[in-house]
Amino acid sequence: PRSGFCKSNSVFYSKRKPCPHPPNHSLDVTTFISSRAHHGKIAFIDASTGRHLTFADLWRAVDSVATCLTDIGVRKGHVILLLSPNSIYFPVVCLAVMSIGAVITTTNPLNTTREIGKQVADSKPILAFTTRQLVPKLAESTLPIVLLDEDEPSQSQSQQYVKSAKILTTLSEMLKKQPSERRVRDRVNQEDTATLLYSSGTTGASKGVVGSHKSLIAMVQIVLGRFNLTEGEHRFICTVPMFHIYGLAVFALALLASGTTVVILSKYEMHDMLSAIEKYRITYLPLVPPILVALVNGADQIRSKYDLSSLQSVLSGGAPLSKEVIEGFVERYPTVTILQGYGLTESTGVGASTDSLEESRRYGTAGLLSPIMEGKIVDPESGEALPVNRTGELWLRGHSIMKGYFGNAEATANTLDAEGWLKTGDLCYIDDDGFIFVVDRLKELIKYKGYQVPPAELEALLLTHPEILDAAVIPIPDKEAGQCPMAYVVRKVGSSLSESAIMEFVAGQVAPYKRIRRVAFTTSIPKNQSGKILRKDLIQLATSKL
Ligand code: AMP
Repeated sequence: PRSGFCKSNSVFYSKRKPCPHPPNHSLDVTTFISSRAHHGKIAFIDASTGRHLTFADLWRAVDSVATCLTDIGVRKGHVILLLSPNSIYFPVVCLAVMSIGAVITTTNPLNTTREIGKQVADSKPILAFTTRQLVPKLAESTLPIVLLDEDEPSQSQSQQYVKSAKILTTLSEMLKKQPSERRVRDRVNQEDTATLLYSSGTTGASKGVVGSHKSLIAMVQIVLGRFNLTEGEHRFICTVPMFHIYGLAVFALALLASGTTVVILSKYEMHDMLSAIEKYRITYLPLVPPILVALVNGADQIRSKYDLSSLQSVLSGGAPLSKEVIEGFVERYPTVTILQGYGLTESTGVGASTDSLEESRRYGTAGLLSPIMEGKIVDPESGEALPVNRTGELWLRGHSIMKGYFGNAEATANTLDAEGWLKTGDLCYIDDDGFIFVVDRLKELIKYKGYQVPPAELEALLLTHPEILDAAVIPIPDKEAGQCPMAYVVRKVGSSLSESAIMEFVAGQVAPYKRIRRVAFTTSIPKNQSGKILRKDLIQLATSKL
């Protein structure tokens, strides 16, 4: 296999030890993972209740849910919505849905009814799995619902919606079902769609990223090759959301194939996370940069209160990690190896990674290309492929790349070229040794604590305000969150709309992580001839003023 930069075609090949390609026959990702049985061991532990599922429990649960789904008429190609915080049953639902060739679409529980309504309208699910607490967020749809929890409702408002919603059954009822060998099972091919995860990509609003069984199997192969989990006893803790490719790929899929035990937090909270690390003797902690920053800033207190001696590695991904944070972490937690990962929803989470502290210490690097992944650095102006140490847009190609954007041929054509290259929208260079450095983001995307904030979505919302003539949203740096959205607003003549009124207007309609944190007024929004907002000009302006 080729490795390193090839001058004749300007392609960078992975320098990692190759991992197997997805097999060449029809195979669904659930069967692929379950064929690596680890029956006696514990797969998932709920950190707050201590409830657990062994691998045997898990696969039985997957079969029961899959049987129920086929009984109620779910077939290959049908879309199922999963609206839930992390739980030990999150992977069960995903694996069951995919095992019958149906498609899982996930969404952030923090999203508003309006935002979820948009995703429902786009992805057209026929059924939703959700919790009692979250049922009100499906108020605008008439979807039949499977309730995930057995617990008593805590909120009267939820109770009222639960009464009016179309509750089909509960997960606990489904789990009682005897799995049927004869259940309708359409043949699932690896090219078939398995997931629809939402991402804004390089431009515009959120779009359904079409992931196939093949892209998920390739991702599992790459993750398994990255960690040597067969030696020693390893335990992971899941603090990242499973609705996002990071959590879904690592925790709901890849680690299952390796037989590793995962402790699940329903949502990230510092104390809960640290107590669980101590209690369950966690060895691997995957997280996003803001949590790492908090671990560095609170190190003295944390180390005096919690026993973190079991921890061997932290894995940071989803957003860049600065030199100061890496140095600060290494100094305060000298026995813990810090590892970086770079990827996109569109590349099924894998792209590049550092696999040792020595590699992570090449400050600013996102690591070496993942095995069986190819890269190109392309000049955004000329379209020319560039050699080592030159900065341009990173393009990726490999089995884990998405099929395209759901029902959006134009966005697909703008992001995937005819040869299968994915344009990442990240400005990068690759050094002599093959390490990728993410220099800047060409694309509009803002990342607040690792969550996606698409500026186009906020701009469209701002323009619905009767006193706003024009608006543009840009990222501004933030120590804690990485980036925050800031709006430049042109008010209509005679309007005295205030900054805070604008922030409140947006806050009332979007998830908390999308809130605009700063507003500046201007007389016009700079645009190019075709009307595209010149964001870089505004970013420069904001930087010079802040
Ligand atoms: P998402 O689809 O939400 O995973 O967002 C993908 C984007 O997050 C990438 O295109 C990058 O802009 C950013 N990103 C992810 N991981 C890293 C990393 N390790 N370093 C820098 N940026 C990253």
